[in-house]
Amino acid sequence: MADKIQSIRGMNDILPADSPAWQFIEEKLRQLMQSYDYDEIRFPIVEKTALFKRSIGEVTDIVEKEMYTFEDRNGDSLTLRPEGTAACVRAGIQSGILVNQQQRLWYMGPMFRHERPQKGRYRQFHQMGVEVYGLDGPDIDAELICMTARLWKILGLSDSVTLQINSLGTPASREAYRSLLTDYLETNKSLLDEDSLRRLQSNPLRILDSKNPAMQEMIEQAPRLMDHLDDESNVHFTRLCAYLDSVGIAYEVNTRLVRGLDYYSKTVFEWVTDKLGAQGTVCAGGRYDGLVKQLGGRDTKAVGFALGLERLISLLEQDDLEKHYNYPHAVMLMMGERAQNAGFSLTEELRNAVPDVRILSVCGGGSFKSQMKRADKSQAEIALILGDDELDNNTVTVKYLRAEQGADKPQQEQLSQQQLIALLTEKTQ
Ligand code: ATP
Ligand code: MG
Repeated sequence: MADKIQSIRGMNDILPADSPAWQFIEEKLRQLMQSYDYDEIRFPIVEKTALFKRSIGEVTDIVEKEMYTFEDRNGDSLTLRPEGTAACVRAGIQSGILVNQQQRLWYMGPMFRHERPQKGRYRQFHQMGVEVYGLDGPDIDAELICMTARLWKILGLSDSVTLQINSLGTPASREAYRSLLTDYLETNKSLLDEDSLRRLQSNPLRILDSKNPAMQEMIEQAPRLMDHLDDESNVHFTRLCAYLDSVGIAYEVNTRLVRGLDYYSKTVFEWVTDKLGAQGTVCAGGRYDGLVKQLGGRDTKAVGFALGLERLISLLEQDDLEKHYNYPHAVMLMMGERAQNAGFSLTEELRNAVPDVRILSVCGGGSFKSQMKRADKSQAEIALILGDDELDNNTVTVKYLRAEQGADKPQQEQLSQQQLIALLTEKTQ
């Protein structure tokens, strides 16, 4: 036998047994986006490397060590997208849809980061993201948070996640704070690990985000950005909190929440869970007012978030999903050559008549016993049986495969095509 070629480490197949959960989440997300009147945008999976370097920032985990970067045949440096925001901004600038317009956009798809694979952390993973352009108030920040809270409710996860919020202030207030923080970190230099030493000059705020246990106490004592916000940032944050209070969304102010990427300002937020071990952040977002200009567009206010679909799916109760998404309503069994021919077109007619019906057709013939076995395995509720008798009297035999039909109902009956259509219509309601 030839060698089996395996998939790339950290890049997973979504097999048939797993796809109901994905279909469920994707369906709920699309409905949610419609209910807030957001529009879908799709952009390529590969972009020029410079796009991510310039937007995410050179001194970040993603750009320093996680990007899948390669040279294509022309010698151009390209990168598999590690996140969606940069490409969304690029597409927005390029198409002109950000100029003097408001845009409320969403996207969904695979992202790529060369990380150490473990539960909840993969090299190809999926994000659903939302990006809003041209709105600068705390009301839109609050809308994004409400929308995610609504999603948890729809998915039955409200008790599994909690909201953390913080403000990173305007660039001006952050600049002033930065020197305070750098001074503090300099005096504690002996406690810094290698990554943090490297970031001391280039990106000291990121040091606050370190998960190194040995540094936690020192980080705890550091000056807090929240105490050094300018008036504009303070007002924005206070109003955001008031909006959240007004709709009863509970939150915790986490003054150490800084986010991994360079481009955030003012509002940042994360939804976290304690049910997934170390990979506890399910959704992360915030305001990034400076990015559009930084990538060559006009000054455009922006705010967004991204959710990790793998982490979300591992929080879901998946019991009923397979039935809803994978099981057919009916299986078509055809006995003999005459029935195989007639049944082929009859099944198509049933699909025409009942557009939402899911019918599995047992192709390839076979004995009654072997076809019934396949019908059972499909988990369908009913088998439709077509043989010479049925053809002669223009009926189809319907066999109810799931026992709990009730004593008053027959296990099996012959129906006309019209009755059958009525039955299948009822099954799809
Ligand atoms: P983390 O701190 O877990 O590395 P991050 O700050 O790198 O997360 P973001 O870039 O903000 O994550 O991405 C948003 C969301 O995407 C995360 O909250 C998480 O749910 C998901 N995510 C990020 N990286 C991965 C990954 N390698 N595998 C699976 N999901 C991921
Ligand atoms: Mg990360």
